[in-house]
Amino acid sequence: MSAAPQTMPDSRGRYGPFGGRYVPETLVAPLEELERAYAEARADKSFQKELDDLLHNFAGRPTPLQFASRLTEQLAGPRIYLKREDLLHTGAHKINNALGQALLAVRMGKKRIIAETGAGQHGVATATVAARLGLTCTVYMGTEDMERQRLNVFRMRLLGAEVVGVDSGSRTLKDAINEAMRDWVTNVRTSHYLLGSVLGAHPYPQIVRDFQKIIGEEAREQILRAEERLPDHLIACVGGGSNAIGLFHAFLGDANVKMLGVEAGGRGKSLGEHAARLAAAEGFAGARPGVLQGTYTYLLQNADGQISTTHSVSAGLDYPGVGPEHAWLAEQGRAEYTAVSDEDAVAAARTLARVEGIIPALESAHALAELIRRAPKMRKDEVVILNLSGRGDKDMEILSRYV
Ligand SMILES: *Cc1c(COP(=O)(O)O)cnc(C)c1O
Repeated sequence: MSAAPQTMPDSRGRYGPFGGRYVPETLVAPLEELERAYAEARADKSFQKELDDLLHNFAGRPTPLQFASRLTEQLAGPRIYLKREDLLHTGAHKINNALGQALLAVRMGKKRIIAETGAGQHGVATATVAARLGLTCTVYMGTEDMERQRLNVFRMRLLGAEVVGVDSGSRTLKDAINEAMRDWVTNVRTSHYLLGSVLGAHPYPQIVRDFQKIIGEEAREQILRAEERLPDHLIACVGGGSNAIGLFHAFLGDANVKMLGVEAGGRGKSLGEHAARLAAAEGFAGARPGVLQGTYTYLLQNADGQISTTHSVSAGLDYPGVGPEHAWLAEQGRAEYTAVSDEDAVAAARTLARVEGIIPALESAHALAELIRRAPKMRKDEVVILNLSGRGDKDMEILSRYV
């Protein structure tokens, strides 16, 4: 690779050909307002100071970078480090972004938060942060996801959020996003739409990326301290792509650091059976660029351009689109993308539980499964950082069905 890859969107919010702002007229002004407010907040040291304080004292940052000595020994491959985002308050990386955007909402004088959620993790993080900052909160959730993640629905309600079930379409994340958007259009003066991943219209992919890049910034410092050099590989699962870009961002300029994003291979390669948007080279059907929910990116769609249903054992990876910055990193060859089956992800979760005493979220287990597959082909002096994006407590019901 010659030039360093582009790490900022251009003025129209584009990463190469991807990204942008494909929205109805009514959303243009709110998005411009958000863009301005974010630019001001970014330049304001007191905003960063308040966010740092919340990240440290409320969420539990910095998270450890743990040397996984027993997994390293068992796989007889590279030296494996786990970035422990699973140890954060509410159990996943999502709170990094939720805190950042909620503070931004306060700064914009908005007292109500709207969010959508798939696995329920983003909804829980948002409800948590809204309670902490004294904001009211409405969370939209597909009824299929509500069924899969009942405990998270209860958590959100306990935290004072209103959870609204969405019964249209596939009754999952993309339908919940549509409803949240509708609410935002109607209540934009009083409400901030808190988007949970590096998706949606500009400036959301950049805002969410910026609030998640602390993962890689910490990991970079931590690995330099532990190994006195940069890692050879970064591995993370990719739903919308926020935990992955959060880890990758600080290393994008380091040409020797390889980056691997792992999508949901589900239960087969035909359309509807997986959520692999960027791993098409491996034979997963249906991914082509198109516009969904405000952004131009790779989408799972049928021959007529209808958005396809997806399948994954983990609700957090079960989405037909992927963040536009990942589409661009894939097209440049700066990051590689692959997919892992439900079955392999569950097996990897069991392995980590037994070998390291950590039950990972099924999303994170996808990244782990790919590492387990590749480790035998890696040298023993190679260093890997794997992003453990969340903990598995929320997945007990699903895991117990498999085990
Ligand atoms: C939501 C979630 C993901 C997927 O979202 P990204 O935006 O791709 O990070 C991954 N892991 C966990 C634990 C999650 O809760």
